[in-house]
Amino acid sequence: MLHRRAFLQNSTLCLAGFSGLQAADSEAKALVKVGLMTDLHYADKPPTKTRFYREALAKLDEAIEVMNREKPALVVELGDFIDQADSVEKEIEWLQTMESHFAKLSMPRHYVLGNHCVGTLTKQEFAANTKACGGHEVFEAGGVTFLILDACFRSDGTPYARKNFDWKDANIPASQLSWLESELNKASGPVIVFAHQRLDADKAHAVQNAAAVRSLLEKSGKVLAVFQGHSHKNDYQQIAGIHYTTLVAMVEGSGIENNGYTMLDVLADGSLRLNGFRKQVNRTLGR
Ligand SMILES: [Zn+2]
Repeated sequence: MLHRRAFLQNSTLCLAGFSGLQAADSEAKALVKVGLMTDLHYADKPPTKTRFYREALAKLDEAIEVMNREKPALVVELGDFIDQADSVEKEIEWLQTMESHFAKLSMPRHYVLGNHCVGTLTKQEFAANTKACGGHEVFEAGGVTFLILDACFRSDGTPYARKNFDWKDANIPASQLSWLESELNKASGPVIVFAHQRLDADKAHAVQNAAAVRSLLEKSGKVLAVFQGHSHKNDYQQIAGIHYTTLVAMVEGSGIENNGYTMLDVLADGSLRLNGFRKQVNRTLGR
């Protein structure tokens, strides 16, 4: 058995060549590995110019196959899991279809609410048909604290549901800011934040009170990075020493070659490595 395993490992390294050796080397130092995907927008409806709603299922299946092979500790989808239907019933049916595929992951899965997740549905309906908690959430793996934010609130504090909002009016309400501050205080190690709408400076796609959120993240001195979706493109900027990375949307473009998802390694020295698949770019984010 040992011999066989050694042989298999060797052949894998040989096939992968030098980059395979590098990956194996830094894997040893990874505190935790996380799978990421965003903006699938699944819907059983015809495509627009760039959004191929039905193809999201096959793209999800490919990402799941890779993740079940790579075995991250957990997987996070960063919102807009489904797209709008013309009735609540239809949209729940699409959500159940997606969930039946997503449930094939062999590790825990987490959900960030996107504006499209709760465009027609309520947050409770989204949660009732998935493993989502239906709002913000904290969990820990490998000594890293992960915080999921929920910016699907109007500026008056009303939660999104039943088309009661303008998608540009995304906000983190005061009660969630207090929760965030207290979780940041409690965290004993590094912190990674997930949000659907952007917390960096892209105006149109930003959380309206992003500056208040950023100031809490900065004050804690513990946050390594923020991962976000929503604007459907690879993007990156660093603000006050925190990495803000926007991931590519899976719904964009026809064909499996237009898929895009990520394996994120959090390394012991606080640096991060994004191994991007398909349209998701690779990034090395230093400490
Ligand atoms: Zn989207």
